[in-house]
Amino acid sequence: MIRINEHYLKLQASYLFSDIARRVAAFQTENPDKNIIKLGIGDVTRALPPACIGAFHKAVDEMADDSQFRGYGPEQGYGFLRQAIAENDFQSLGAEIAADEVFVSDGAKCDTGNIQELFAGDIRVAVPDPVYPVYVDTNVMAGRTGAANKGRYQGLVYLESTEANNYVPAPPAEAVELIYLCFPNNPTGATASRDQLQAWVAYAREHKALILFDAAYVAFIRDDTIPQSIYEIEGAKEVAIEFRSFSKNAGFTGTRCAYTVVPKDCIAYDANGSKQPIHALWNRRHTTKFNGVSYPVQRAAEAVYTKEGQAQVRELTDYYLNNASLIREYIGRLGYSFVGGENSPYIWIKTGEDSWDFFDRLLNKASVVTTPGSGFGACGQGYVRISAFNSHANVEEAMRRIEMALG
Ligand code: PLP
Repeated sequence: MIRINEHYLKLQASYLFSDIARRVAAFQTENPDKNIIKLGIGDVTRALPPACIGAFHKAVDEMADDSQFRGYGPEQGYGFLRQAIAENDFQSLGAEIAADEVFVSDGAKCDTGNIQELFAGDIRVAVPDPVYPVYVDTNVMAGRTGAANKGRYQGLVYLESTEANNYVPAPPAEAVELIYLCFPNNPTGATASRDQLQAWVAYAREHKALILFDAAYVAFIRDDTIPQSIYEIEGAKEVAIEFRSFSKNAGFTGTRCAYTVVPKDCIAYDANGSKQPIHALWNRRHTTKFNGVSYPVQRAAEAVYTKEGQAQVRELTDYYLNNASLIREYIGRLGYSFVGGENSPYIWIKTGEDSWDFFDRLLNKASVVTTPGSGFGACGQGYVRISAFNSHANVEEAMRRIEMALG
């Protein structure tokens, strides 16, 4: 009799995006003439930068020629891309990350989901609340939690991100071994200061813990005082893994390319308390279970680091940040308190009512789709997330309608 992994039965069905889709579809059926504007999901809307497209085309042409064709590549990624990443994303910040500490992959979702399998089943895991759900669900699947109770899994430590701490949790009083952090944050849009990250690194060093730092939205940081990488913090290389993606900077959500940095100094411990380099474990996992990102996609990603690529990515992220600042302006004028949208494409609004009630009000009165904060965790109740990923004209029209509906 084939039996299942029972931990999967603990997973709370995520009704968030299907519930949104159902409500939007019902509204559209009842109001066929209404033009609905979606500021809900976190997918980009603009085309790939021309530099990436040029490199992509060229690499496809190489694949059409026997003399230049490439079959399986290195599982960890081609040297040209790993080198460009190490130099441009880390060494330029003074963070000593080497090319062979970079593992190229097909997504930060997969990497943030897969990394936990390197660690013991009985470690204590801390996750933000509200949270990008992948961190939680993959630990549930692995059996690191008990059952869910009122939206929270027993055994997890929830790092509450609320107005009281400006949406950046401090390290907990208790000891945990694995810590998920995401800055700029999804869903809140909050960013962490150098001091705040320093406190986390100090905590991890003291408790022999590991930080999993998700920087998928780093390209939206404009404030020079905000660290871009956890490796800008002294001592982080021993206690932190960083995840990045080409999805939100260069619009690769459908093209798929990301990477994970595992420094050679980063360690975890075996049952005897002996140090084990995580780099070797992740390399083993990656080469066993993954066969590399396609060559044309890696060439397209490499083009992000050319002079034209950098300018085009800047223009793309500026475009969405300009949308975000318009959203901030309107929401501020309406008198709501909010966070995000300055160094992030997300704006997290304190609505003063139930998340779904506010969502429904915006849908019914303004034909605008947002994301109810309660879908991201208990601390998201009473909030909605507005995403800046849409055309400027649509964002302008959406905010005008919201002002009319709520003003
Ligand atoms: N990490 C966070 C915090 C995200 O919000 C997302 C996507 O929305 C991802 C990772 C996924 O990135 P990728 O497209 O590289 O899988």
